[in-house]
Amino acid sequence: MKKLLITFIVLTMSNTSTSQSISTNFDDFISELFHKYHHYKVKDIETKRFIVNDYHKILDSLIVKSNKLFSIDLIGKSFKQKEIKLIQFGNGVRKILMWSQMHGDESTASLALLDVINFLNNERHFAQYFSDKISLYIIPILNPDGAKEFERRNSQEIDINRDALRLQTPEGKILKQICDNIKPEFAFNLHDQYSSYSVGKTGRPASIAVLAPPFDYDRSINEVRKKSMQVCVEIKKIVEKFYPGVVARYDDEFEPRAFGDNIQMWGSSTILIESGGYFKDFEKQEVRKMNFLSLLGSIYSIANNLYEKNSIQSYFEIPENERRFFDLLIRNVIVEKDSIEYLIDLGITYTEKFDSLRNKYIRQYSIVDIGDLSTFFAFDTLEANQLKLELGKVFEKVITNPRQLKKLNPQDLLSEGITTIIYQGAFKDLEQNSLLDLMITTTKFPLRESRKLLNHSANFVLKDNNGKIIYAVVNGNVIKIR
Ligand SMILES: [Zn+2]
Repeated sequence: MKKLLITFIVLTMSNTSTSQSISTNFDDFISELFHKYHHYKVKDIETKRFIVNDYHKILDSLIVKSNKLFSIDLIGKSFKQKEIKLIQFGNGVRKILMWSQMHGDESTASLALLDVINFLNNERHFAQYFSDKISLYIIPILNPDGAKEFERRNSQEIDINRDALRLQTPEGKILKQICDNIKPEFAFNLHDQYSSYSVGKTGRPASIAVLAPPFDYDRSINEVRKKSMQVCVEIKKIVEKFYPGVVARYDDEFEPRAFGDNIQMWGSSTILIESGGYFKDFEKQEVRKMNFLSLLGSIYSIANNLYEKNSIQSYFEIPENERRFFDLLIRNVIVEKDSIEYLIDLGITYTEKFDSLRNKYIRQYSIVDIGDLSTFFAFDTLEANQLKLELGKVFEKVITNPRQLKKLNPQDLLSEGITTIIYQGAFKDLEQNSLLDLMITTTKFPLRESRKLLNHSANFVLKDNNGKIIYAVVNGNVIKIR
């Protein structure tokens, strides 16, 4: 059973009425995109989970019939008969194809594409300028069935990105057919990656990872792939102008079944963009903006051949995408097992779970690695200076109504080592994201978690030598105890 958030989408026309004057110098162009992004952002959706039908309604409303530079067509249906659309813009000779959300739970670029379309729709002067040079083809949400469930695979449970050869998914067939018909010079394959990726060993998150996919096991470089690499370098420069050090180079192992690798082989310069994590960007709205800059910046660069000045060497100089990033890293903690004390670091990350009592998705933080994590990094780091870890205790009574709950003093409970309250009452009067809210679990039965640290929920306290609690960690949030 999968529950969907009920979201009310109000279609406003506010996004379609602003027109800013935009410079024609590349650096100025990018700067203005960055600084005036709020004019172009389609604010009807600002969460990574949304209803696909709402998305399509917004898309239809953006593609105004009177704007002759755009057209929107139905190009096929998903396995569950959901519409898949193609937006076409411009009449230039340079053909650029972009598709998003081939993996249903990777929606960042779908939202950025709305912003790109909104920009081209508003900035008539620029739209005319681009439309003479390029033809842009966009397939937003290639996998609407997966998107509906916010799941990676399509409704046949096949990973579309491993179906480029066998073509057993309708979605894969559509993408192949569009590639064959259009024969784009450039193809943008738009995905999301875990926020646990970092830019090499720099200690920065890989908010964007780029790849010029290989077309053989030897990872050969021909003219087609060279152009992909040059555009990847351009994207790095564009994004890092405003977000220093957040662009990594994705793993370039050849995958013979993947679309990116094959489209590169079929002769279109292919650019993979993976949207990763950024500081406190749980709905990925900042990374959405990075996508907006990357896509429009690439269009500008291609239209004017600016990417040609970038070298293959600078592509290989982009640090590799490495999985060494946590949400919270606590360094130098003492733990005790079988009366023996030893030193560890703790790596903590979250997963999202639907909470039926709260009627929303919540983040559940847990300990995912322990030991010497000195070569790892995190969005937040706490130096524990050899404080001693003790797993959090559960409040003995199950609370069933908000009045009882509000009588509890969370700081008092934490100073006794209690980090978790089991609550079965209403949520409507409770302040969200308060300390009390963080401590609440809605699990029906008292938690009997294993005493093992690995995979334990991130609920514990850190004590000094005198046994005094200095910090409590409540669902991954560090709280200083007064
Ligand atoms: Zn993906």
